[in-house]
Amino acid sequence: MSQAQATEKEKLEPETLRAKLEHWLRDVNEPDRVYTKNKKIEVVFLLEAVNAILPRTEGVEDITLFKIPGTEYEVPAILPEKLQAVSRRDMLSYLRSYRDKQNKENKELRTYLKKLSVVYKGSEGKGKEKKEILVGFKKAKDELWNCYIQPPSGEETDVGMDGFCPACALFGTVLDSSKIEGVGNISVGVKSRVEFDPAIAISDRKVSVIGLTHNKVSDGVSWTGQSLFTEQHVLPGTVFVGKVTLEDVTEPELKAFLAVLSAIDRLGGRESVFGGVRVHLVGVRGGSYETVSALELAKALVAEYGEELPNVGTVAEKLKETLKGKGFIVNVNQENFRKIVDDSNTWNDLWRSTLIYDKQVLERVLQLKGEEKYEEAEEWKKQ
Ligand SMILES: [Zn+2]
Repeated sequence: MSQAQATEKEKLEPETLRAKLEHWLRDVNEPDRVYTKNKKIEVVFLLEAVNAILPRTEGVEDITLFKIPGTEYEVPAILPEKLQAVSRRDMLSYLRSYRDKQNKENKELRTYLKKLSVVYKGSEGKGKEKKEILVGFKKAKDELWNCYIQPPSGEETDVGMDGFCPACALFGTVLDSSKIEGVGNISVGVKSRVEFDPAIAISDRKVSVIGLTHNKVSDGVSWTGQSLFTEQHVLPGTVFVGKVTLEDVTEPELKAFLAVLSAIDRLGGRESVFGGVRVHLVGVRGGSYETVSALELAKALVAEYGEELPNVGTVAEKLKETLKGKGFIVNVNQENFRKIVDDSNTWNDLWRSTLIYDKQVLERVLQLKGEEKYEEAEEWKKQ
């Protein structure tokens, strides 16, 4: 085998995920997926600004800046909730296009979600009747599945969430009686299994941040010279180091998440003008504990590149050296991960994996509610 072939073979591909990381993935059919087992997948990536970006949370304040401890550098940063929201939104978009392509199969899956378990109240016997209560997800009966998130407004932060779709199951949701039928009053948090670090730029604000002056434009007239305002932007070419840890995920979940992460091209905000980014996957590692943080990695890189805007490829090579020593797979075929966002199998497998998770979540809720006897609904048994 030639050197080139050997290297090629070692690349992490969507098809080789299972073989390479099997020990750190949960099996789709495992009976206790809702309980954590410290199976963690760390993913390190670089996020490159491809136009001027405004990395800030909702609102009008300036961009987020972060002082690197132990240095004089202050660098732009992207908060975890932003990255979380962007990847969740993107995943929802892909799920919707999949639904439109595979309408029948996806509709069928959602039928099961409507009737997952049967709870028995009372007991059969002389003059007694066993009462069967069907338990399932309420919003699953909508003809058109449409889960969405929206910016926090008052207390209702999960207005559009259905509680059961692959994005809810992976990124977290709150289950209450508006989402589950047949269990009475509950409020249960399904924790996110995606944990982002803040993504931290490796170049000081002196070289990576600029104030841009805008003219206020109203319909038909532009008020040049008047009503100007200045906003801080991160310059194109600025490179951020990011890290995300996935906890107790299955192969379809990891595959779909890596596909979504690879394909992120916008950070949101003023999307029509600003926010263009490119994600570069650098390393993936499975383990029972986390080995690196974005801050540690950024700190080392800032020491070298703090005064300039280095080329993203150069930074990636440098980072790979560090990660290799920590057991990361640094040869990732990102192009192939990006491609599978358009492959229906990605979303089909993800929905099936989620269906089993949802059923286990629901059974956990029934346990918490103290229900003694419940079993699978007929619909579920048939599938
Ligand atoms: Zn959802």
